[in-house]
Amino acid sequence: MDKYIKVRKIGEGSFGKAILVKAKENGQQYVIKEINISKMSNKEREESRREVAVLANMKHPNIVLYRESFEENGCLYIVMDYCEGGDLFKKINAQKGVLFSEDQILDWFVQICLALKHIHDRKILHRDIKSQNIFLTKDGTIQLGDFGIARVLNSTAELARTCIGTPYYLSPEICQNKPYNNKSDIWALGCVLYEMCTLKHAFEAGNMKNLVLKIISGPFPPVSVHYSYDLRNLLSQLFKRNPRNRPSVNSILEKNFIAKRVEKFLTPELIAEEFNHKIFQKFGPHAAPAKRPGQEQTLTSVAPAQKITKPAAKYGVPLTIRKSCGAPKKPNEKKPLTKSRQEPSKKKRLELPEKERRQREQISLLKADETRRLEKERMERINRAREQGWRNVLGSGGSGVKKL
Ligand code: ADP
Ligand code: MG
Repeated sequence: MDKYIKVRKIGEGSFGKAILVKAKENGQQYVIKEINISKMSNKEREESRREVAVLANMKHPNIVLYRESFEENGCLYIVMDYCEGGDLFKKINAQKGVLFSEDQILDWFVQICLALKHIHDRKILHRDIKSQNIFLTKDGTIQLGDFGIARVLNSTAELARTCIGTPYYLSPEICQNKPYNNKSDIWALGCVLYEMCTLKHAFEAGNMKNLVLKIISGPFPPVSVHYSYDLRNLLSQLFKRNPRNRPSVNSILEKNFIAKRVEKFLTPELIAEEFNHKIFQKFGPHAAPAKRPGQEQTLTSVAPAQKITKPAAKYGVPLTIRKSCGAPKKPNEKKPLTKSRQEPSKKKRLELPEKERRQREQISLLKADETRRLEKERMERINRAREQGWRNVLGSGGSGVKKL
């Protein structure tokens, strides 16, 4: 902390404080999030560090830039850019009932989608999309912030955040104790779009029970017909109760009236970078890219350092697993090998003395045992890697809310 001078506290969430600071080095203002990790288990602490390291690698014009992180006195500090334009929630409230133009809404919306695409493509979920976590820079660019911080929290803290914090963005599946998934982020995205169109929350109630009822089955007041059919239709798609019927962020960005705005916000180079790669796109069973030789090895040899510094390596893990699972060639490939090894012994069998034959049989049994053991170990490694990769993607949200 001695590199920074505290300017003022700007907020306090269930996980800790947000402090506006000034860097001694250059006088630049930053926001530092302070997270108390002293009460976390070693495992959770380790996980938090890894998460933060992953976040530090996220660089996108529509994502609040994470500068650095450090630990002091049992706290984890995350330093990020300060967004001088404030958050979208304040901007909405400042309208005092005067609706935004559709042009303005769509310009903001497409930037939020681009940020969300960047993280979803890397199999990271935001988990806390709300107008208060969407910021404006001095020049009016939208930046999505606070992502990942939700995952740094353990499930109890996350639950507390949901209850104390802003429950308006809870998706129907979360209300029904189902796991958080990429489409839960899409629901929250719908809530933000609705807020931009109406200056109100889509689902509001006097208490949590009624709110949950509304989210699960209640209607939401219609959006002004002043807005285009495209926009209103998109909203109804984002608010599909069944997460499977909601579009992914990539399919939202494919819609003409959205797609045509992309070039306003990304350079051609970035468009190429963000839209041309296919490897990490899409969640779900269709996520696996075509099998490439030698990738199983990458899977089992992902070094911890790689996981920290290369989100692609970390989040690529499940994809690689699917490849090896989808094409269960490996064990089969080994079979002919074993066979061919056994072949000569079969031929020689008659020539060998009984004792030697038994010894050989025993050796081949031992070898088969060893192969099975190695295979089991390999599968365990794969499963561990899969858990590791997906814990943050699908993990604590479901379990956290289940405890409700
Ligand atoms: P919350 O749990 O509601 O997200 P935070 O602690 O993240 O609370 O934020 C507290 C306040 O600080 C909010 O008003 C938010 O708009 C503001 N804030 C958080 N991060 C930034 C940032 N990077 N730039 C500017 N304001 C920020
Ligand atoms: Mg926040």
